[in-house]
Amino acid sequence: MRCCKREPIITVRGNKFCKTHFVKFFEKQVIKVLNKALNELQKQQKQRQKEKLNFVVAVSGGKDSTTLAYVLAKLKMQLQCYDFDLVWVDLGFNKYAIDVLQQLLDKIKSNFNMALRLHIIKVSDYLGISLAELWNKRKLLNIRQPICSLCGMIKRYLLNHFAYTNNFDALLTGHNLDDELALALINLSNQNLEQFARSSFYIAGNPEFKLAAKLKPFYYVSEKEILTYASLHSVPFTTKLCEMLKSKQNTTQYKFKQIIEHAENLHAGFKYNIMKSFVKLRKFVKQSLTLKQCNICGYATTSQLCSFCKLKERIKKLK
Ligand SMILES: [Zn+2]
Ligand SMILES: [Zn+2]
Repeated sequence: MRCCKREPIITVRGNKFCKTHFVKFFEKQVIKVLNKALNELQKQQKQRQKEKLNFVVAVSGGKDSTTLAYVLAKLKMQLQCYDFDLVWVDLGFNKYAIDVLQQLLDKIKSNFNMALRLHIIKVSDYLGISLAELWNKRKLLNIRQPICSLCGMIKRYLLNHFAYTNNFDALLTGHNLDDELALALINLSNQNLEQFARSSFYIAGNPEFKLAAKLKPFYYVSEKEILTYASLHSVPFTTKLCEMLKSKQNTTQYKFKQIIEHAENLHAGFKYNIMKSFVKLRKFVKQSLTLKQCNICGYATTSQLCSFCKLKERIKKLK
C-alpha cells in the first residue's frame, strides 16, 4: 500500500506509514484473511443458503482479542456478510477482564450502534473446581505440564465445545503473527513437523469429531501493529499478566518471541515473509495423524480419551 509519508507513526516491514494509511493497511490485511476464510466457509454452507455467517469471537481482555472484536465491528458494516457474538472463559482468577470487556461493549455500542452479546463459560461448571484449586492440587492429580499449557488445553476444549454446540460457523481468536510464528518455530526446533503443518489461519470444521471451524484474522498482523491500531482507536484492553504466571520471561514462547523480534530488527519484513513461506511449505508436509473420537465426550483426540476428559476423570477420583 502506498502512503503519503506525511507524519509517519509506524514502520511495518521497512515501510513508514502515516495514521490514515496505516489504518487502511491494517484493515486490508484483516479483510484479506477474512475473505479467504469466508470463501471456504460459504462453499461448505452452500446448501444451507445462509445470507450471513455467525461467528463467535473468543475474548480475554488482552489487546489482541479486544482489538479483533473492535475491528470486526468496524468492518461488519462494510463487508455485510457476518454477525458475531463474544465469548469469555471465566477461569476463576481473571475477573479483572470483565471491566475491560464491559468497556469494550460500551465502546462498540457508542461507535457503531451495535449491541454485542457476551457469553461466559465458567470453568468450574465443567470441572467442578476452579483452575486455581486444580493447580494447588496438581501433585495429587498427577499434573506435570506447565500452567499455561494446562490452561490452554482447557480453554481450547471449552471454546470449541461452545462454538460447536451453539452452531456457530467459526470460532475466531486474536492470535497474531508473533504468536503464530513463535509457535511454528518452536515446533520446528522440536522437529515436530506434523504439529508445524497443522496450524493455519483457517481450519475447516469437522462435524464427525465435533470440531468447529477456527479462524485467526490477525495471522499476518504483528503485535506492534495491533498495539498501534488499538491506541489510535482507544480500544480498551488490560495488560495485566495472568496471576498464575509469576514471570513470563521463562516461557519458551517468550524466548522465541525475543528471537523473532531480534531477527525483525536486523532484517525488516522477516516475520511476515517467513510466515508466508511457512504457509506455502505446510502443503508439502504429510499428515499421518489419525483422529479418534473420545470414548466419553466424542470430541477429537489421538488416544482413547481426550485430555479434558482424562483431567475430569482424575478430579472425580480425588473427590
Ligand atoms: Zn500516508
Ligand atoms: Zn473427551
